[in-house]
Amino acid sequence: MVLMKNNNQWHNGKSNAAFERARRCIPGGVNSPARAFNALPIGPPFVESAKGSKIYDIDGNEYIDYVCSWGPMILGHAHPAVKEAVIKAAEKGTSYGAPTEAETELAEKITNAFHSIQKVRLVSSGTEAVMSAIRLARAYTDRQLIVKMAGCYHGHSDSLLVQAGSGLAQTSNPSSAGVPTSIAEKTIVLPFNDTEAVKAAFAAHSDEIAGVLVEPVAANMGVIPPEPNYLETIHNLCTNHGSLLIFDEVITGFRLALGGAQEYYGIDADLTCLGKIIGGGLPAAAFGGRADVMDMLAPDGPVYQAGTLSGNPIATAAANATLDILIAEKPYKVLEEMSRRLQAGLTEAAADADLPMTINSAGSLFSCFFTDKPVRNFSDAQAADIEMFKKYFVKMLQSGIYLAPSIFEAIFLSTGHSGEDIDQTIQTARNVMKDL
Ligand SMILES: *Cc1c(COP(=O)(O)O)cnc(C)c1O
Repeated sequence: MVLMKNNNQWHNGKSNAAFERARRCIPGGVNSPARAFNALPIGPPFVESAKGSKIYDIDGNEYIDYVCSWGPMILGHAHPAVKEAVIKAAEKGTSYGAPTEAETELAEKITNAFHSIQKVRLVSSGTEAVMSAIRLARAYTDRQLIVKMAGCYHGHSDSLLVQAGSGLAQTSNPSSAGVPTSIAEKTIVLPFNDTEAVKAAFAAHSDEIAGVLVEPVAANMGVIPPEPNYLETIHNLCTNHGSLLIFDEVITGFRLALGGAQEYYGIDADLTCLGKIIGGGLPAAAFGGRADVMDMLAPDGPVYQAGTLSGNPIATAAANATLDILIAEKPYKVLEEMSRRLQAGLTEAAADADLPMTINSAGSLFSCFFTDKPVRNFSDAQAADIEMFKKYFVKMLQSGIYLAPSIFEAIFLSTGHSGEDIDQTIQTARNVMKDL
């Protein structure tokens, strides 16, 4: 049996005190809800630092991290080249509110990586990217309806907080309070992987749909890959009805391949939203696509969109450094092989412990559901054994393996993970599953 390296007893006294203190002045004690371990019997560890595949909490516990900041840290934590780029940029000033060449370099890397992106605008979060893309789609088509899929998360803007998966899936209602019905009514929600439902929506609203917004690989209801022909069907329906196809590649962009799910599955979107990885761990995101659509943005066109810190020099430096490494090293095969080894080990561990488990994957992205049924949409994901997951999660955490605190999240690998990390994780999962 492999023991944790620096301690073999989990403590959380300091984190509990820190959580108490935070809860007095921050709603729920956190600045993004999923961090609060809401549905779980323990509070979150407070982080002290992170390096490579590991994070360290203020109680001195060490964890192998499979959250990777919910996706961005594909090179592992505190990668030397990214850290260097950030320090160098900070020395030259932290924000100018004026254009820099580094932003153009980043935009060129994105347009080179994505066949369908001719022009791209930088923003500061995935939420902003998707919110701006749908405004643009509505303006371009002069239509109002947006189609989204149940369980797909597209950030927290009003139109898209309807059956939104991820953090919301852990609460009693998968949609948010405070969203005006007049706005929610403009969003049509369909089950993921259901081509007939998309056809029916177009039949009912033939010339009213501005765009279909989808995560090409759903990764906020656990990982659910698209079934064969699903994305092609949506693509063709959009083309035939003059609607825009909007891929939310905030997770899949630069994760499945340099050119995201579009390269991986060979499909072009009209508009693409990027975030997470393209910030290299700093707040940067982007949306881009066909030049004729993007040219409708201010200052050239009538669609307003802006940001004081958009293209911020430090975030842009982290983004450029991260993408430079991904472009030079293309670590996707290596990540996928590592992912397959981990999936095989977890599958075997579950079988040996007589636990039902379905693993879904695309590229290096994967997630485990405690169920013996296939998981192809949000209701399938919600039907998996959540109580079993909670016990598994807590024991894994207390044994030094940091998974996302929800079955509705992916397992993220980084180039900072080693074969030893994978072996240790499989061994720990074996021990934990035997006790469930
Ligand atoms: C995380 C995420 C977003 C929102 O990005 P933020 O930077 O958190 O605003 C949007 N879409 C998808 C698919 C995401 O996973």
